[in-house]
Amino acid sequence: MKITVLGKSPSWQDAGGACSGYLIEHGRYVLLLDCGNSVFSKLRTVCDYAEVSAVLISHLHADHFLDLVPYSYALIHGPRQRPGRPRPRLYVPEGGGKLLSRVVGCWGNAGLIETAFEQHEYGSRHEVQLGPLRIALREVPHFTRTFAVDVSDGRGRLTFSADCAPNDGLVELATGTDLLLIEATLPEPESAGERGHMTAREAGEHGRRAAARRLVITHISDELDADRAVAEAQSGYGAPAEVAREGAVYTV
Ligand SMILES: [Zn+2]
Ligand SMILES: [Zn+2]
Repeated sequence: MKITVLGKSPSWQDAGGACSGYLIEHGRYVLLLDCGNSVFSKLRTVCDYAEVSAVLISHLHADHFLDLVPYSYALIHGPRQRPGRPRPRLYVPEGGGKLLSRVVGCWGNAGLIETAFEQHEYGSRHEVQLGPLRIALREVPHFTRTFAVDVSDGRGRLTFSADCAPNDGLVELATGTDLLLIEATLPEPESAGERGHMTAREAGEHGRRAAARRLVITHISDELDADRAVAEAQSGYGAPAEVAREGAVYTV
């Protein structure tokens, strides 16, 4: 399984960067995990968007789904469309279809995304087989309904935290994974109130508790000190860690 980081920014893009988007390739099967702002243009630099097999959205925050809009326009109006070509599948959390149609319905195009993609919804503790990939989803604590995603081809595994506060479910989902791609949004722990993100140190601790073989922190702004974040992640993990960078490729 080959994993390419298309975008790793949090809810605002790095300079020249993109929000959440990761491309997973297994032979001819291509899965796009999240499709945040600017991800569509990054996708176009590495593959043919019309040949993507499926897109899976971890949660319906703009930085994780907004580029479904230009992607849909391309699929419907792009010049290379072939009649009969299967539409990419789109997996969103339960209720997501309604939310997406409300967004594009603002300018009178409510059917845009469901026309471009074959749309499916998933719920908590859902498992789905996508071509050669087994996908396990686990709900994690965030400000809206959000799912961490584990992708396995039977030989290698990637676990993606999505956005979340520290939680045991993620550790359980990620136990023994080959690569834990985990959010490290916060430079300092959140103070009082509802938590929805974690620090690099907390991300590292999740990696250690899950005995993940490799740890990559993501969803971190270029306006923060990456070296400090990596050092904190390593102190929690107890082993070398790295920060995601656009274009980085991992094989598991
Ligand atoms: Zn986010
Ligand atoms: Zn979010």
